[in-house]
Amino acid sequence: MIRDKRMLTLGIETSCDDTGVALIRNEREVLCEFLSSQIKDHSRFGGVIPEFAARKHLENLLPLVDTALNECGVKGNDIDLIAVTRGPGLMGSLIVGVMTARALSQAWGVPLIGVNHLEGHLFAPMVDAEDLEPPFLSLIVSGGHTEIIRVDDFGKYELLGQTRDDAAGEAYDKAARILGLKYPGGPEIERLAVEGNPNAFEFPVPLRNTDKVEFSFSGLKTALLWQVKKFEADGSELPVNDLCASFQRAVTDALMSKVRLAVKQTGIRKVSASGGVSANGALREALSSAREFRAWVPSKGRCTDNAVMIAMAGSNAWCRGVRDGEVLPDPSLHDIMM
Ligand code: AMP
Ligand code: MG
Repeated sequence: MIRDKRMLTLGIETSCDDTGVALIRNEREVLCEFLSSQIKDHSRFGGVIPEFAARKHLENLLPLVDTALNECGVKGNDIDLIAVTRGPGLMGSLIVGVMTARALSQAWGVPLIGVNHLEGHLFAPMVDAEDLEPPFLSLIVSGGHTEIIRVDDFGKYELLGQTRDDAAGEAYDKAARILGLKYPGGPEIERLAVEGNPNAFEFPVPLRNTDKVEFSFSGLKTALLWQVKKFEADGSELPVNDLCASFQRAVTDALMSKVRLAVKQTGIRKVSASGGVSANGALREALSSAREFRAWVPSKGRCTDNAVMIAMAGSNAWCRGVRDGEVLPDPSLHDIMM
C-alpha cells in the first residue's frame, strides 16, 4: 500500500439507509467514525423506502460531519481529501452524499474523490487487519450484492462471479418476510436459527455442482415459501426455528461452495468477506474454520455500510494517482474492474 504520511481523509457514505461519516489518517488509522442507522425508521415498512432514506440523510449528514470534526478537533481545511460514495446505490441517497461532499470540497478548498461502494467493501476487512494484502479473493455479500472479486492489487480487480438473481441479504430479507419476521431479516433469522435444527429441512443449494463461480438464491426462497404453505395447508404450527436454521445452512453452504471453487480455480488461498451478510455467525464460523484458505472478516459493526471503508478506499485510490473530474452520483455504477 502506498502511504502518504499524514494524509487526513474525511469519508462520507450515504448509498442506502446508513449515514456514515469517518475521519482516517494514513489510509488506515481511524480517528473517529459515526453511523446513523435508519433501520428503525424503515423496519415498519418492511424494507428501505428510497425517498424517506434520502430525507433522513439530509437531516443527519451535516450534523454528523460537524460532530466528527469537533470530536477530532479538526477544521474543514485541515482535511486533505474528501472521499464520498458515488454508487452503486439509491439515487436520492447518493445525491445527498455527493452534493454535500462537493459543497464541503468547494467551501474548504479540499480535493474530492468518488468511491465505488463495492471497492469500499473490499477495504472493510483491512481496517482491523494490517496483514491482509493482495492478492486475495473478496466475497461481498450484502442486501444488494453477492459476488466474488479477485484482487490482484489495489485498483486491479476481476469479477469472478456473482448472483444470477437475488443477493444473499435480499434472500434473508425475503425469507424473513415469508416467515412473518421483521426487517432486516438476516439478524432475525440468525437469532431464531440458534434454537433450530439446521438439518430439519433439505433446502436446495442452487448451482452447487457447476464449475462456475455464480450464485442463485431465488429458488431457495421459493422452496421456503412452499414449505410454509404446506404447514399452513395442514393447519400445523410453523417450526420457525428449524426453518430459519435450515435456510441459514443452505445460504451458508451456497456461499462456501463457491468460495472454495474460486480458491481452487485461482490458487489464491486468502479470502476476505464483507457486506451485511458477513455479520452472520454461521458464515463467519464456516469461513474461519475452512482449511483450504485463510479468511479475514471485519468486526461485525464494519460488515454493513460504513464511512471508514469509503475513506480507506478513497485515500488508497488517491495515493495510487486516481483523480476524478466532476464527481457525480451513479446509482447503477457497478464495474470496479480495472
Ligand atoms: P448491507 O446491504 O451491506 O447494508 O447489509 C444489509 C443486509 O445484510 C440485509 O439484507 C440484512 O438482512 C443482511 N444481514 C445483516 N446482518 C445479518 C446477519 N447476521 N445474518 C444474515 N444476514 C444479515
Ligand atoms: Mg453495502
